Amino acid sequence: MQVEQMYLYKAHEEEASMAAKATTTIRQVMHYQPEHAAWFAANQVLFNQVAAFYFEVIQAHEKILDLGDQDALPALEKLTHATKKNPHPVMPLSVIGKEIPAMFRRAAIHAALGSARSFYAHLKKWRTRRANLLAKGKKFLERPPVPPRSWNKSATFYFGQWKERTSSSILLKVWTGSCWSWLKVRLTGRELPNEAEVGSPALVRRGKQWWLHTPVEKHFQRPPKIETQVTTNAATRICAVDLNLNEHLAVCTVQTVEGTILATRFIGGGREISGFRKRQLGRIARNRAKTGILAENEQDNAALWRKIRNADEQIAHLVSARIVQFTQDQGASILVFEHLGNLKPEKGKYSRRGNSKRAFWMKGRIFNFAKYKAWNLGILTSRVNPHHTSRECARCHSLIFRYAQGHPIEGYTPGTPLCLCQQCQMRGNADRNASLIIGQRLIARSQEPFKEKPPAPARRAGRVEKSTGVALSQEAKRKKGPSLSDAWHGDDNAHGTAQEGTLWMDERPSAIPTQLRLPPE
Ligand SMILES: [Zn+2]
Repeated sequence: MQVEQMYLYKAHEEEASMAAKATTTIRQVMHYQPEHAAWFAANQVLFNQVAAFYFEVIQAHEKILDLGDQDALPALEKLTHATKKNPHPVMPLSVIGKEIPAMFRRAAIHAALGSARSFYAHLKKWRTRRANLLAKGKKFLERPPVPPRSWNKSATFYFGQWKERTSSSILLKVWTGSCWSWLKVRLTGRELPNEAEVGSPALVRRGKQWWLHTPVEKHFQRPPKIETQVTTNAATRICAVDLNLNEHLAVCTVQTVEGTILATRFIGGGREISGFRKRQLGRIARNRAKTGILAENEQDNAALWRKIRNADEQIAHLVSARIVQFTQDQGASILVFEHLGNLKPEKGKYSRRGNSKRAFWMKGRIFNFAKYKAWNLGILTSRVNPHHTSRECARCHSLIFRYAQGHPIEGYTPGTPLCLCQQCQMRGNADRNASLIIGQRLIARSQEPFKEKPPAPARRAGRVEKSTGVALSQEAKRKKGPSLSDAWHGDDNAHGTAQEGTLWMDERPSAIPTQLRLPPE
């Protein structure tokens, strides 16, 4: 995933060229004799030994990281690989093994470089944070990042280590534990696409089964920029997404540039994931109370943390896939979210705080996954200013009431499902309204690129979140339409519990086609 995203962003950066590319991984099951599984394992062990060796070489020669990969590779080989011209390298690779093929070595060097770059980038950030805090005379307690203690990377096969690839088989040169041997394996599963550029395959173990993962790059015509699409075609369709921490993890609306609302989709499952996470966090908290252990990676809680991480990741994939599917089904070419803003720390029990933090992170993941999946389909993704997106009426831009079914229709209770605009009588689902506003912001920004500026940090602070009686901010005031600010007079009775109510008439969320499957507890 990380590698895929790296390619994705690289593609986004290549503004000048008209060609764009997207990277996906083709996963194929390998069919082999049972005894060959031990070879693949031995091959992976050697690969990691060589990678770990090169990580140490880089640690001993940090300057190498100033070079690009193209130059770092020969520099590292000069330090390690004996040749006629270079008979006594400083740190000979021969301590690991005498006959390591060049392409195997280079793939391992590449893996080591990747890890080293990531490690030193984290270390640099840590040093900066420490320097900043110490300069202010504060204590700095955060532990520094540590280099990888164990290496468990999948072995990448550069060409030369593989050959004769067909749609159903490949020849791989593997370390058997005692020698190098060519082995033919049969492949089933998704075939490599014809028009794509095929990258180096990797041998990946999933449980007891070995898979061949092959990155493929698809090239396509770069879609026109968002500004161009919005300003040149009033029929351009935009899918706007409001991400939430409540039951509806995502509410999507599709509208055209000229403002016709075409479709709405509610993506649920929030309560289930939240309940699941809370139960696991509760267990972790109880374990901690027993043992007094605080570190996240302590063994007794490691399985519980893994469960939470897996569930979060899975939900983020599911939700982002549904968002992108809906976008594509509706013929939208632009996908828009709001910026996440800052995490507002919650008070309360450990499980509650931890849960809201992870829910917040999940929003970021959903965005990243959706952006990547959308790009593969030629759909562009953007984000807009989140200021007041859930307070403004999507029809007339006045301030809305937000409330729960059965409660007084007044004020603004965050998290409640319903909204009413007193000015134009629009009523409906509050998250759907927010989603429409998000879409409108993108349109407005694209049409007048210099008018919408990000808010000053002070103004974004949760001033308005706290009470219902606050007047409109300047930003909302300069929006067209009559302002309701005068009608808002500090009535503070909207602080009841955010109770879930039924939704308004036609705003009923669609049924969720597949239930989220969380791992057994
Ligand atoms: Zn209105």
